Amino acid sequence: MARFSYAPIFPLKKETVKYRKIADGAVRPWKAGGRTFLRVDPAALTLLAEAAFTDAAFYFRTRHLENLASILDDPGASENDRFVARALLENAAIAAEGELPTCQDTGTATIVAHKGEAVLTGADDARRLARGVFNAYARHNLRYSQVAPDGMLDEENTGTNLPPQIDISADPGSEYRFLFVAKGGGSSNKTSLYQENKSLLGSEKRLAGFLDEKIRAIGVAACPPYRLAIVIGGTSPEMTLKTVKLASAGYLDDLATEPTGRGQAYRDLEWEEKILAMARANGLGAQFTGKYFALEARVIRAPRHAGSLPVGLGVSCSADRNIKGKITRNGVFLEQLDKNPGRFLAALKNTGIAPGVRIDLDRPIDEVIAELAKYPVGTRLSLDGTLVVARDIAHARLKEMLDAGRPMPAYFREHPVYYAGPAKTPRGLASGSFGPTTAQRMDGYIADFMKAGASRVTLAKGNRGQAVIEACRAFNGFYLGTIGGAAALMAKKHIIESEVLDFEDLGMEAVRRIRVKDMPAFIIYDNKGNNLYAALCR
Ligand code: SF4
Repeated sequence: MARFSYAPIFPLKKETVKYRKIADGAVRPWKAGGRTFLRVDPAALTLLAEAAFTDAAFYFRTRHLENLASILDDPGASENDRFVARALLENAAIAAEGELPTCQDTGTATIVAHKGEAVLTGADDARRLARGVFNAYARHNLRYSQVAPDGMLDEENTGTNLPPQIDISADPGSEYRFLFVAKGGGSSNKTSLYQENKSLLGSEKRLAGFLDEKIRAIGVAACPPYRLAIVIGGTSPEMTLKTVKLASAGYLDDLATEPTGRGQAYRDLEWEEKILAMARANGLGAQFTGKYFALEARVIRAPRHAGSLPVGLGVSCSADRNIKGKITRNGVFLEQLDKNPGRFLAALKNTGIAPGVRIDLDRPIDEVIAELAKYPVGTRLSLDGTLVVARDIAHARLKEMLDAGRPMPAYFREHPVYYAGPAKTPRGLASGSFGPTTAQRMDGYIADFMKAGASRVTLAKGNRGQAVIEACRAFNGFYLGTIGGAAALMAKKHIIESEVLDFEDLGMEAVRRIRVKDMPAFIIYDNKGNNLYAALCR
């Protein structure tokens, strides 16, 4: 008979993260039954969660910033890669002032915790952590993105960004360890699971071909450059996807890097290099073609059932909001993020990037279209003038109006439409963080709206479906892309006025009129059927 031997599936080595202490006195040893326990004041859980989601909204890890800055020095980067990297670094510097979060989608709060069996809080830990989430979103200019069902078809924004997703598991020992992730919807939507089988592992070529296709399919709608995470295997599909999330957050960086033969997962560094090279060769680049689709890659090989081969893919987007915390006998600690991205700004001068073609959005829409038609897809633009802002629920309401035989509002026919929804507005600014949302979600409306003379020029982020390319050709329209993940920069430098125009009850999804100045954009789809990403997003 085989001998029992236990080995944790995810053997983590000693971590190298730098922490800062955020509370003293919240912990004390407590002896009972011949053992020493760690008693934790439950208020520390609230304090830690609030500090984590606050820091994650405004600051990045140093490594992320350095990776972005390295794009500017790489002669192999495209001009568009450098343009995006420059914008994201400027965005980071503005966000670090603590008023405008790095992205307008401040995410779903996720907390993954491992509680040592000798840690005692005497409280409902999830409730205390949720209070910290509530405080962070209420006290800062973040966005409430969570909607609760009122029935199968009806929903309402919870107005607090609650509920968070909280998973607490038990571990040996007397430490309490945390990962806090503020995951945006666009980024989350790019997580995918493929239920494969042993034949996928038939050869390196077969596996590489499969992954190349799936990586391209992620596209650019989740605001690259990404940290790509790929998991091959898993004892269940659920475990595979959770591992994708943890790997994309950098939480498994200290995993063993060699197989142990004991049913443990490991990081495959050789495949990480292959995947990074693959991602950089696909041409999609940092949003507008080029080399920097990914900054980093993580590849985890995990054990599996002989009859199943779950494969998971996911990304951490340009809003790379992942932060670790811990409570030990020495106090309460939070991962130290980088509060000085301003030091990278000097390198942003003299990048030699030419200004975009100026487009006056206040001219009649037919004239705006005639002007855009002079330039090929991929042309960089600088937008001045009025945009109408609308996203998911506003589109659904406008479609109901159209279906009921009512005309489209004039504002929707007369102005280009920006798909977006802002975070809260700081005092003294025209707008809160206000980057684009994923255009694809509005694809189902575009043909009907264009036919009704509306939405002929749209502006958002990411590649869209074939129906949009065809609608642009059929109805003389354009789809423009602007930089995703640079929402603080948009609010501070490019949005000069913002007012609610319609559907005020929709909160962050209300229809707005905004005025922009020097707003960067690119022609993605033109009125002749051309597509910037043709042949790249296969
Ligand atoms: S950077 Fe892009 S994908 Fe990430 S949260 Fe912001 S809008 Fe969503």
